[in-house]
Amino acid sequence: MSKIIIAIDGYSSCGKSTVAKALAAHLGYAYVDSGSMYRCITLHALRKGVIKDHSFMEDEIIKLLPEINLRFKFNPTTKSSDTFLNEENVEREIRQMIVSENVSKVSAIREVRVKMIAIQRELGKSKGIVVDGRDIGTNVFPDAELKLFMTADTDVRAKRRYDELKAKGQHVLLLDVKTNLIDRDYQDTHRKENPLVQAKDAIVLDNSELTREQQLEFILNLIKELTVSIN
Ligand code: C5P
Repeated sequence: MSKIIIAIDGYSSCGKSTVAKALAAHLGYAYVDSGSMYRCITLHALRKGVIKDHSFMEDEIIKLLPEINLRFKFNPTTKSSDTFLNEENVEREIRQMIVSENVSKVSAIREVRVKMIAIQRELGKSKGIVVDGRDIGTNVFPDAELKLFMTADTDVRAKRRYDELKAKGQHVLLLDVKTNLIDRDYQDTHRKENPLVQAKDAIVLDNSELTREQQLEFILNLIKELTVSIN
């Protein structure tokens, strides 16, 4: 089968990246975590002091864009790609709560989106790619051969994210994690630029009660059906 683009969109922390990574590894495809790109811009803006407790300097964030270089590099130990911000591996830092608390505001800035979307389209030029995010099937790759819209119960998502952060040694409260998810979902679905919406041709995957293996099997079956219809 010729290579395709698989777009996975959905709410915060519903396991998009976990399933996308497994799928990419299974198919021998590249995986792009588009959320990590918006997280990098946010981290850089926090470090530069243009996002502080009660001030969010949008114009200053836009001015930082030309000095930001993003790259993904395969990590043989974790068997997945690490995100590099100006040649520094920031995979850990970009998952911090302070970044999660500010990223939806940063990702709503038009200039930020224009730059990130151009990079994502370049990465998908040769197809054979799994990309997860919020506007991948609707805006970045509207012609993607397979589009999934993932969702899960809010409490299930909050608990999964909380366990993940705890396992990484971060000190967080379950309630804060849940509040952040709800808040980000609201901002992501209500922003002006490329809001999170389900693409008309996306297939919904509610994974509240599905194991990773069941999710992978579900998607691989969809790919099989697609192969029959496009070959
Ligand atoms: O996927 P993740 O939770 O890491 O994404 C972080 C944030 O990046 C989202 O809450 C959203 O604000 C933004 N994002 C986006 N468009 C994408 C991917 C992520 O606006 N394609």
